Amino acid sequence: MIINSQNLHRIMLKIITAAGSSAEEAQIVADHLLRANLTGHDSHGIGMLPTYLRSIAEKLLIPNTPVKAVSDSGSILIFDGQFGYGQRVAREAMEQAISSCQKNGLALMALRNAHHIGRVGSYGEQSIAAGLISLHFVNVTHHTPVVSVYNGADARLLTNPICFAMPKTEKNPAVLLDMATSKIALGKARVAMNSGKSTPEGTLLDSQGNPTNDPGVLFSDPTGAIKPFGEYKGFGIAFFCELLAGVLTGGGTIQPENPRDGSIINNMITIMIDPQRLVDQDWLHHEVDALTSYALESPQSSDADSDIMLAGEPERRNTARRLKSGIPVDPNTWQELLDAGTSVGVTPETLNQLR
Ligand code: NAD
Repeated sequence: MIINSQNLHRIMLKIITAAGSSAEEAQIVADHLLRANLTGHDSHGIGMLPTYLRSIAEKLLIPNTPVKAVSDSGSILIFDGQFGYGQRVAREAMEQAISSCQKNGLALMALRNAHHIGRVGSYGEQSIAAGLISLHFVNVTHHTPVVSVYNGADARLLTNPICFAMPKTEKNPAVLLDMATSKIALGKARVAMNSGKSTPEGTLLDSQGNPTNDPGVLFSDPTGAIKPFGEYKGFGIAFFCELLAGVLTGGGTIQPENPRDGSIINNMITIMIDPQRLVDQDWLHHEVDALTSYALESPQSSDADSDIMLAGEPERRNTARRLKSGIPVDPNTWQELLDAGTSVGVTPETLNQLR
């Protein structure tokens, strides 16, 4: 089923407001989810709403909760998301970190206890819009682990995303690296399972620690695991997400003394830099443009699986395509949305009319 982006946005607003959010909050969450779908990250788009509604019903996600400033000492800001919608509290925390970085040239922002903050790239996009560079390290808690450690047979981590953002120049678009530190994001496995597809070779382990291509192993009990990306190097980065985002925010890590109540809580450490405080801007733009051309003009290797691109380009291409031709929603995801809508009093007829 293909749904155009405006209709998909209306469907999201209907469900999110029926689940108790103010119009302003629903707008922020729906905008974020729609952008995830538009950029091609269906794992973090409308398909997350059934999970959010379950969290609300279990009081693990509290609609209409703003971010709370815990402390602000110049360029170091600490926030508590108070288990509100991550898309809202992380956005609000980023707005304050941007003001601090514009004033001080550098900001270190710690956010703890946010319900799922979604596509981390959206916070990189906030810095890019302000002309700032940002580095984000995120961990995930309160959830059963789904990612193995390097050479491990069971799941001990979550998909701990990282994001690095560099503003555009006059000649080239922004560079936005936004990725899970697992071989695939958990939501991508959910999308694959819902669409009846298998996952690539070497990505998953079953509950016995044996290689498998069946994404279902992640959603059964006992659960299997996704391997960390980049072998031991990627595992090292995933572990540093725990050390930076889990420990330094005060939100906690995935170690088993901490709560596992089935929620998805994110903690995020953000380092934000105003490049104007470091180097001449004309020189910076020249250097970034020259480096970009040098990288993109490389001849393609014989086993290339796509054009040579910089991070952020696949998302721009998907957005252009999906704004024109609509967003695919698989039948299982649609059925889950109909059920989620029903649970908050929005009938399947209403949702079917909106699409
Ligand atoms: P992905 O593998 O699709 O893309 C990762 C990065 O690689 C992107 O920056 C993309 O632009 C770049 N890229 C992709 N193909 C490329 C190519 N051929 N050449 C050059 N660059 C290329 O992303 P993912 O790891 O599946 O993550 C998906 C989303 O899930 C992200 O938005 C992430 O923030 C989100 N996520 C969130 C959480 C959370 O707890 N909130 C956890 C995990 C992932």
